[in-house]
Amino acid sequence: MGIVFPKRCVLCGEMMPAAGVGKAMLCPTCAAEVRQQYRCTEPIRIPGAADAAAALYYTGKVRNAMQRFKFQHKQHYADWFAAQMLPLLADRLDAWQPDLITYMPIGFLRLHERGYNQAELLGKAVAEPFGLPCIATLRKRAFTPKQSAQKDATARQKNAERALQPLENAEVRGKSVVLVDDIITTGATAAAAVKLLREIGAAKVYVLAAAHTPGK
Ligand SMILES: [Zn+2]
Repeated sequence: MGIVFPKRCVLCGEMMPAAGVGKAMLCPTCAAEVRQQYRCTEPIRIPGAADAAAALYYTGKVRNAMQRFKFQHKQHYADWFAAQMLPLLADRLDAWQPDLITYMPIGFLRLHERGYNQAELLGKAVAEPFGLPCIATLRKRAFTPKQSAQKDATARQKNAERALQPLENAEVRGKSVVLVDDIITTGATAAAAVKLLREIGAAKVYVLAAAHTPGK
């Protein structure tokens, strides 16, 4: 630990009342909104994945918080996002029988400039309470075109597949693997990662995300 962050609500940034907030990190207003409108209830289908789940809808305050988590050095938000994901994994332990957690890589340059990979932080925080290993299995190639610049689903899929590579020492053969990601939008990147993990021998791949773009 060591670093003490001011107690501000993760979603709206308001200062929290000093007493009784514990590690919740949400003000009562946002906590109610999360319960009422931000819980992801849509089924998520990722081609090649045995199953997939996301905790929250990527919209409104959740979207803003995710942007701060990724781009404004709010690494400690990983605790809150992971806390939203943990019950999903707990509910699925019997069905998924995970052997290990892995996470979506980000590019080396981005990692260098940001200092952390948000999906790795989530993966570690989700793995830890279950005593699961969280390991890197994939890398992102440098200088790949942006997913958002692709014109259609086929182009997105091709681009996503070109952007990822398995790590040489990734040991997933015969294992049940949970791939953790921050946001699932079209699912093309997750599908590409699942495909690669299957190609290097993973028996089953499940996808667990913090957030999902509604209606995609
Ligand atoms: Zn709030």
